[in-house]
Amino acid sequence: MKTLMVKIRRNAGEFTPEEDEALRRAGKIIRDGGLVAFPTETVYGLGGDALNRESSRKIYAAKGRPSDNPLIVHICRFEDIYEIVSEVPETAVKIADAFWPGPLTMILNKSEKVPTETTGGLDTVAVRLPSDRTAQKLIEYSGGYVAAPSANLSGRPSPTVARYVVEDMDGRIEMIVDGGEVGIGLESTIVDLTVSPPQILRPGYVTREMLEKVLGRVDTDVTVLKADTGQAPKAPGMKYRHYAPKGELTVVEGKPDAVTVYINEATAADSRNGEKTGVIGTSELLAEYRADVVKCVGSREDEEAIARHLFTVLREFDEEGVTKIYSESFEAAGLGQAIMNRLLKAAGHKVIRV
Ligand code: AMP
Ligand code: MG
Repeated sequence: MKTLMVKIRRNAGEFTPEEDEALRRAGKIIRDGGLVAFPTETVYGLGGDALNRESSRKIYAAKGRPSDNPLIVHICRFEDIYEIVSEVPETAVKIADAFWPGPLTMILNKSEKVPTETTGGLDTVAVRLPSDRTAQKLIEYSGGYVAAPSANLSGRPSPTVARYVVEDMDGRIEMIVDGGEVGIGLESTIVDLTVSPPQILRPGYVTREMLEKVLGRVDTDVTVLKADTGQAPKAPGMKYRHYAPKGELTVVEGKPDAVTVYINEATAADSRNGEKTGVIGTSELLAEYRADVVKCVGSREDEEAIARHLFTVLREFDEEGVTKIYSESFEAAGLGQAIMNRLLKAAGHKVIRV
């Protein structure tokens, strides 16, 4: 299949007639059962008609994703939620008021309209109303319900720029909408509203502290930061290895001096064994490292920058053929919880404490 590329300026005033035409064309592809990758404020999504079971099957096939890993349904108006869920609890209205449109996904009981192919066989459905205006327009032109997981091959870091979508999806889908670099860089927070208290299944930009201000007590699924809890994660996708670079990634935890000493010794030893070494560091410690490739993920003072750069940095190590990667560790509070969740999964929970 030939994949069509179109460019949209995401954050610049009104769409031009050409851009609007390109988005209409993308919408028609989705309505006709095809797939289009598009930018959102979190990461690039791979969109298909959420109410068409064939479209969902195609999404799983294009990503190489296990079919028990459910998709998030994206809508562009709050009212549309009533079509796809069996009941809208008060908690859903409250958090929609507070965080929609935005990087928050809620899990609710699904209506009969949503095929089980879209929900990975579950009776619940994940719903999000993104704030990105390109995403909103595309959803509108697509008929209102777009199933869109991240637009990467299953297991790889989620794409934050169109170039990485092309890398994974070229020839597998009908169209890629290139809207430049996304703003947040990590996937949405997922909160399950079918249980009481509500439970965070995947941390994201909207933190537990933010949710608790609106909902009162909110729990976090125990599998979010731990490897072997003996419990199956409630977000089925979280049980799979995820976000992983091709090189072997190790997270190093400890005081800054000890971390830099350990990483420099480890990369020196790896180099002697013929490995190409890399470090994911913060600007505060960057000058200390001696690896072949040293990447700055941001400043410790700016968690949003770290969130935005993490997946890009992981992809860059792949592009440069790095085989052994070491990363600093981060405080797992606030947005740091989402950062550590992705980093630990990317590392397959390989952590060294020094
Ligand atoms: P992605 O869109 O690639 O970020 O993946 C979507 C995530 O949402 C996966 O980890 C899914 O397991 C999770 N998810 C989607 N629908 C549900 C649901 N009904 N219940 C629990 N988790 C869900
Ligand atoms: Mg994903």
